[in-house]
Amino acid sequence: MDEQWDAVVVGAGLGGLTTAACLASAGKRVLVVERHDLAGGNATVFRRHHEGVEYEFDVGVHYVGECQPGGLFPAILGALGVGDRVTWLPLDRDQFDTVVLPDLEVRIPAGWDAYAERIAEAVPNDRAAVERCIGVLRDVARESRDRYLPGVETPIYDRWATRTLAELFDECELTPTARTLIDHWNGLYAGPPSRSTVLMHAGIIHHYMADGAFYPEGGGQVIPARLVQVIEALGGEVRTLTPVNRIVVDDRRVVGVDLADGTRVSTSLVVSNADHRRTVLHLVGPEHWDPATAAFAEDAQMTLGLVVAYVVVDVDLMADRPNTNYHVFSGTDPEAVYASLDAGELPDGDWAYLAFASKKDPDNPHLCPPGHTNFQIMTLAPRGFEFWGVDTGPAEGGRYRRDQQYRDRKAEITERMLVAAERVLGPFRDHIVHLETATPLTHQRYTHASGGTSYGYEHSPGQSGPHRPAHRTEIEGLWVTGAGTVSAHGIAGAMSGGVICAGQILDRHLLIEVMLGASLVDPAAIPADPPDFDPVLVSRGAKLRAMRTH
Ligand SMILES: Cc1cc2nc3c(=O)[nH]c(=O)nc-3n(C[C@H](O)[C@H](O)[C@H](O)COP(=O)(O)OP(=O)(O)OC[C@H]3O[C@@H](n4cnc5c(N)ncnc54)[C@H](O)[C@@H]3O)c2cc1C
Repeated sequence: MDEQWDAVVVGAGLGGLTTAACLASAGKRVLVVERHDLAGGNATVFRRHHEGVEYEFDVGVHYVGECQPGGLFPAILGALGVGDRVTWLPLDRDQFDTVVLPDLEVRIPAGWDAYAERIAEAVPNDRAAVERCIGVLRDVARESRDRYLPGVETPIYDRWATRTLAELFDECELTPTARTLIDHWNGLYAGPPSRSTVLMHAGIIHHYMADGAFYPEGGGQVIPARLVQVIEALGGEVRTLTPVNRIVVDDRRVVGVDLADGTRVSTSLVVSNADHRRTVLHLVGPEHWDPATAAFAEDAQMTLGLVVAYVVVDVDLMADRPNTNYHVFSGTDPEAVYASLDAGELPDGDWAYLAFASKKDPDNPHLCPPGHTNFQIMTLAPRGFEFWGVDTGPAEGGRYRRDQQYRDRKAEITERMLVAAERVLGPFRDHIVHLETATPLTHQRYTHASGGTSYGYEHSPGQSGPHRPAHRTEIEGLWVTGAGTVSAHGIAGAMSGGVICAGQILDRHLLIEVMLGASLVDPAAIPADPPDFDPVLVSRGAKLRAMRTH
C-alpha cells in the first residue's frame, strides 16, 4: 500500500529525530523510518536480565557538555517543548575526566583557565608551551563561534582551524607527555594528531569547558524518547522495524522511499540520517550523484570503530571515588597507536576509557542493584574487518558471531580492557556478574554504519568543514544529517546538525533562533508522561508500542 507524507526521515538517530522534530514544529507531517526496533541509533540503551535482575547499558551517550541553562542541549530541547523533561546530572566539575598515564594522573576540570593551569601544573617544565597551545585551542574555539557575527575578525581561527593538531603541537614544542595530556580527548573523535584538525579538537574541549560534563537522568534513551514524543504530538510518526531499501530519485529529484516491506512512500522531501556512504552508494545509487560526491563516499576514510566492554560487578567500586571518567594511557605516543590500528593490528600501548553509569545516575533502577557498579570500558579497534577474520560485514549479510577468530580477537581485546581498568580500579574480576563485549561488527549489525563507527568520516583536514558533505545535496529534495555530514558526530554534532539541517530546509537560521531562546513547540502540546514512563517503550514508536503493551 502506498503512503504520502510531507517529509520522510530515514533513520532515527539523534540527527534524524532532531531534524524531524524541527520540521514537524513548522507544520510538516513527518514520517521517521528506522530499521531497529528502537529509535535513537547510537543513543539507544539495551537491557539484559539474569535471574530476575536487570542491567541496562548505554550504547553511545556517556557524557556531554553545554547542559547549563541556555546551553546547547537545554536550548534545543527547550525550543522543542521538552526542556523540562530532561534533567542533566553533572559529573564532578573539578574532575569530570581523569587522565591516567603510567606515572602521572591529572584531574580535568571545567573552565579553560582551570584546565590550562591543571595541565601546566602536571608538566611544570612545559608550562609556557602548554599555555601557548591551550591558548590557541581556546581562541580557535571562541572565534569559530564569533565568525558568524558581522564584522568580527578571526585571525587565530583562520590560521589554525583546518591545520592538524600535530602541527600545533610541533609549533608549541610540546614534549610527549604534554602532548598526550592535551590530546587525551582524541578517542572522542578517533583520530591521531597528524590527521585531526585543530578545530575538531578545540571544539570538543570547548564543549566540556563551558560548564563541565553531564549525563541525562534515566540514561541516554531519554533523549530520543523526548524527541519521539515531540514528533508524535505534532502529528508525525516514528516507525521502527522499518528498513528503507531505496531512496527513489527520478531525474535528480527525490520522489519517495521504498520500504523493505514493499511499501512506496511518496514525498518530495527526504532527509537521510543513515550512514552517509551507504546513503550515496546503496540507498540512492552512485548513478544519481555528481561523480565527485560518489567518489568521496567511495574513497573517504572512515574513523576507527570502538570496542566496548559492558561490565557489572557486585561491589561498589566507585563509593570513595569522584564522579569522573578515566582515560587510561599506557604510553605517550598516540601516533604509534593509530599507526598500528590503521595497519589492522593491536598497538603495543593503548587507550581505554572508563565510564560509570551507576555513579552518574545512581537512582536509575534499571542499571543494577544497589551496591553494584555498572560501567563500560571502551577502546579503539583496528581498522577493517580482516582483523576479526571476517570478509563480509553484517550490513552486507555477513555472519561472524560464531567464527573462532572473531571470538578469540574479542576475548583478547576484552582482556586488555580489563587489565587497563584494573590499573585504575584494582582487582575486580572475582566480582563480575555481567560481562559482554561489542565490536565494530556489532555496531554495524545494529546501525549499518560503514566501518562500524558512530563518528562518520574521519575528521582530517580534507574531510572536514567545506570538504564534508553539506546537509543539502545536489538531488532536489534530498538532504543528509548525522555524523557523516558537515555538522559532524557526537550527541552535540548530531543534534545541532539536525537543527541546522531543518533550518536550511525551512530557509531559516533555526539554530540561532533556538540559541536565542525561541519556542518552536508549546510544551503544553505534548501529552503528560504516564506514571510508569519508560524511555525504551516510548522509543519503540506508536505502532510497536501498542503491540508491546497489549
Ligand atoms: C561506544 C560509543 C560511545 C559514545 N560516547 C559518546 C559520548 O559520550 N558523547 C557524545 O557526544 N557522543 C558519543 N558517541 C557518539 C554519538 O553517539 C554518535 O556520534 C551520534 O549518536 C550519531 O548520531 P547520528 O545522528 O549520526 O545517527 P546514528 O546514531 O548513526 O543513527 C542512524 C540511524 O539510522 C538507522 N538506519 C540506517 N540505515 C537505515 C535504513 N536503510 N533504513 C532505516 N533506518 C536506517 C540506524 O539503524 C540508526 O538508528 C559515542 C558512540 C559510541 C559508539
